Amino acid sequence: MTSLPSSVDVAIIGAGAAGLGAANALKESGLSVIVLEARDRVGGRAYTIQAAPDILFDVGCGWLHSADKNSFVAIAEQLNFVIDKALPPWRERAFRETFPQADRDDFFRSLDEFYERAWEASQKGEDAPANRYLEPGNRWNPMIDAISTYVNGCELDQVSILDMEAYEDTNINWRVRRGYGALVAAYGASCPVAPNCNVTLIDHSGKRLRLETSLGTLAADRVIVTAPTNLIADEAIRFSPALPAKVDAARDCRSASTTR
Ligand SMILES: Cc1cc2nc3c(=O)[nH]c(=O)nc-3n(C[C@H](O)[C@H](O)[C@H](O)COP(=O)(O)OP(=O)(O)OC[C@H]3O[C@@H](n4cnc5c(N)ncnc54)[C@H](O)[C@@H]3O)c2cc1C
Repeated sequence: MTSLPSSVDVAIIGAGAAGLGAANALKESGLSVIVLEARDRVGGRAYTIQAAPDILFDVGCGWLHSADKNSFVAIAEQLNFVIDKALPPWRERAFRETFPQADRDDFFRSLDEFYERAWEASQKGEDAPANRYLEPGNRWNPMIDAISTYVNGCELDQVSILDMEAYEDTNINWRVRRGYGALVAAYGASCPVAPNCNVTLIDHSGKRLRLETSLGTLAADRVIVTAPTNLIADEAIRFSPALPAKVDAARDCRSASTTR
């Protein structure tokens, strides 16, 4: 799509997994829909590159976590993307040569006990920073904290136990042979996307919404905003009149417990 329509029923901001999910869900609705994407490609944080002639590399997401419940598994099957069900390298297959079995058992016991303590505390409904549930003096604490930085995006002292426990993990993790990013891009291939279209303002003062973008102005009845919370917090997209409660909520997400 090269030019922007002047008016649609639904404008979706962002062509990542969430925006493309919304566009696919609206396909049979009879509504006119457009996905406005700032980048020149779809997928957002799902992005597969050809790193070398025989290496496909997922720059963003790579794992179908909780794969037995993950809706992208069925999408992959529909789109003929082969799923790799080999065990992930971080538990059973972790560093066999350099991480002796006895140490591994000890580490995973400590990790599981930490999660158990945090889970029990979270059941009381009261929030607390997750580092409080580390066993004082346990030699694996720095490693558990390091793992938090790539699971939660920050150290345990910045992670809320309620948020940590909200994550549903079935411990089944699969991969997409041709890349998760390639799968999300294929999922979006039939969606009406306007690339290179940066949305800067959502004016909701009138009867219809007015969106200001780098490709011009667009009227819409509804808007679905899927831009990352950080961008909402930074007011990269502005609302007129302002929506301070939503911006504050996005800022709270950033300061309370950040995930990716
Ligand atoms: C390194 C890394 C590894 C990850 N690994 C995993 C993993 O293994 N498994 C997993 O499930 N998840 C993983 N994730 C998380 C996963 O990638 C994201 O949760 C998911 O891709 C987010 O999708 P989204 O549609 O919500 O947001 P995004 O993918 O960020 O999409 C938002 C889109 O909005 C566009 N946009 C932003 N502002 C504007 C604007 N003003 N106007 C128009 N467009 C705009 C952006 O360009 C972007 O395309 C990982 C993330 C990263 C970064």
